[in-house]
Amino acid sequence: MKELIIGNHVSFKKDTQLLGSVNEELSYGGNTFMFYTGAPQNTARCEINDIITEEAINLMKQSGIDLENVVVHAPYIINPANTANLEFSTNFLKQEIDRVEKLGVKRLVLHPGSHVNLGVDVAIKNIIFVLNECITPSTKVDICLETMAGKGSEVGRTFEELKEIIDGVKYNDKVKVCLDTCHLNDAGYDIANFDKILDEFDKVIGIDKIGCVHINDSKNTLGSHKDRHENIGIGTIGFDNLLNVIYNKRLEDVPKILETPYVGETDDSKEKNYPPYKFEIEMIRDKKFNEHLLEDIRSFYK
Ligand code: FE
Ligand code: FE
Ligand code: ZN
Repeated sequence: MKELIIGNHVSFKKDTQLLGSVNEELSYGGNTFMFYTGAPQNTARCEINDIITEEAINLMKQSGIDLENVVVHAPYIINPANTANLEFSTNFLKQEIDRVEKLGVKRLVLHPGSHVNLGVDVAIKNIIFVLNECITPSTKVDICLETMAGKGSEVGRTFEELKEIIDGVKYNDKVKVCLDTCHLNDAGYDIANFDKILDEFDKVIGIDKIGCVHINDSKNTLGSHKDRHENIGIGTIGFDNLLNVIYNKRLEDVPKILETPYVGETDDSKEKNYPPYKFEIEMIRDKKFNEHLLEDIRSFYK
């Protein structure tokens, strides 16, 4: 059996850049990671420092992290579905692709966006336009369109919508999909029948188009269209159903990324200070749910 490719969301800071991200991941025990190249809610970005990148890549080689499996998430502020943002989205995405390629990263996750009141058809045309402006034959990164929960007017809540986008892109060998288990659940795909979901995905889009999987439990029920992530094993999807995704034979070569919430001092504390990943990765590797997950996280970081 192949080694599980698992990691989580980490930070990317101006001073330490990719090296800081690698060090953070090593503290959690994963063998891949995902980051935003700056704050997800704005588009201010720093210059990529090649010396730091080289140092980070050396450290990754020493510690068994394959750069091929590392993921960047584009900021969710860019909304390629919206007509009013087309130029801004296009320019930002072009620059983001350049940054990602400079870092040597091969997978870029992008939310298809929200149509606001334009309707899905116009939104899909807009997304296709932006991708066609940005993807050229020399593009080295795969753009992974994320499956969305269908909150508000989000596009990409069904495989059919994603398929329509992919079909409209000229160089669509560079367009893949990122499955998000919380989003799938909230969109109405039951993770308890994950093999059926994969069969359907294979029929509509093709299994080889899965470039990334986000592993999250959900705070809400099937089809709720909410998008609120929960820690592994304590949401409505549950530990065993998530394990089926994580260890699925058909997804062996695809990086699995946790985007679960930070944990607060108490169950209802407002400030969420402690990263859950070290303990979540541990129980995933053990294939055994940790009944004391939250307590263990709190006592470790306190
Ligand atoms: Fe996302
Ligand atoms: Fe996600
Ligand atoms: Zn989400």
